[in-house]
Amino acid sequence: MENILDVIIIGGGPAGLSAGLYAARAKMTTLILEKEKAGGQIVSTAEVANYPGSMENATGPILIDRMLEQCKEFGATFEKDTITEIDVNGPIKVLKGEKATYQAKSIIIASGANPRPIGAPGERELIGKGVSYCATCDGDFFTDLEVFVIGGGDSAVEEAIFLTKFARKVTIVHRRDELRAAKSIQEKAFKNPKINFIWDSTVEEIKGDGIVESVVFRNLKTNEITEYMADEEDGTFGIFVFVGYIPATNIFKGIINMDETGYIITDDNMKTNVPGVFAAGDCRVKSLRQVITAAADGAIAAIQAEKYIENELA
Ligand code: NAP
Repeated sequence: MENILDVIIIGGGPAGLSAGLYAARAKMTTLILEKEKAGGQIVSTAEVANYPGSMENATGPILIDRMLEQCKEFGATFEKDTITEIDVNGPIKVLKGEKATYQAKSIIIASGANPRPIGAPGERELIGKGVSYCATCDGDFFTDLEVFVIGGGDSAVEEAIFLTKFARKVTIVHRRDELRAAKSIQEKAFKNPKINFIWDSTVEEIKGDGIVESVVFRNLKTNEITEYMADEEDGTFGIFVFVGYIPATNIFKGIINMDETGYIITDDNMKTNVPGVFAAGDCRVKSLRQVITAAADGAIAAIQAEKYIENELA
């Protein structure tokens, strides 16, 4: 078989790029496959304040550009393709993509996770027309308008703070009366005069004819329904959804062991149930999903892939 690589990494976020860096530096022939542009979720983050050593105004894209550069400096290659099928039973793993078929002795799955929709009527139809999952990408469209941020975790509260740079008023809508976000992030939000809260509430429906015009909330304690209509002069407002993530692991179902929510099960060495297949980053079962833990996973997976090739394939 021609062109059998040492390792193929599926996904070009912090986990995949760290794996790429470590694998290429260990002189393994390394290909990183990414369906879009490199970066994963972190490219939609305006500030990465908790990655050790990150500079004061380090944005997600800046951090990712540097990671990608490092991978390339050590000889990893990067291709854009979407993997649709995998055959990982034998010693040579075969990955079918939309553009080509790839072969490698080992695989690192670093496919990450995608934003979870709320699932309210009107949400899907109004994506890009007022409904967004990325404040960095779309915040600017809401300059001097109102926005609602749905969710109470780190993402929701951090992105709500970011959106105050653009929006006239930001309202966080949370289904409980206490935020899940880290206390330090909460404190910043509580101090920000542009941020308001609607507690114990969920989105029942989003309405609009080609653009968001109103949103219906249900108070989960009183069952009260409230419809918020766009200010007449504005005509619209934004709804930013940050209610968690869904692992991007569909194509591995039935092949790689997962938990009931689709996160890949690994051991401490990032090994999955299939020899030669490793998983790293947000797509795997773990207690902390951060850039630093994704990067650590990637490094471990790459070194373990190297050991697997040396010891088990020799
Ligand atoms: P998350 O921690 O899972 O929080 C999701 C939030 O959405 C929770 O507040 C949850 O409510 C709410 N929610 C879930 N389903 C909902 C629904 N159907 N309707 C309404 N609300 C719903 O997700 P995340 O904030 O995206 O964070 C994901 C991971 O990345 C976390 O581990 C987080 O720590 C990490 N992260 C870290 C940073 C940072 O350190 N700076 C920044 C961003 C993300 P409940 O609270 O009631 O469950």
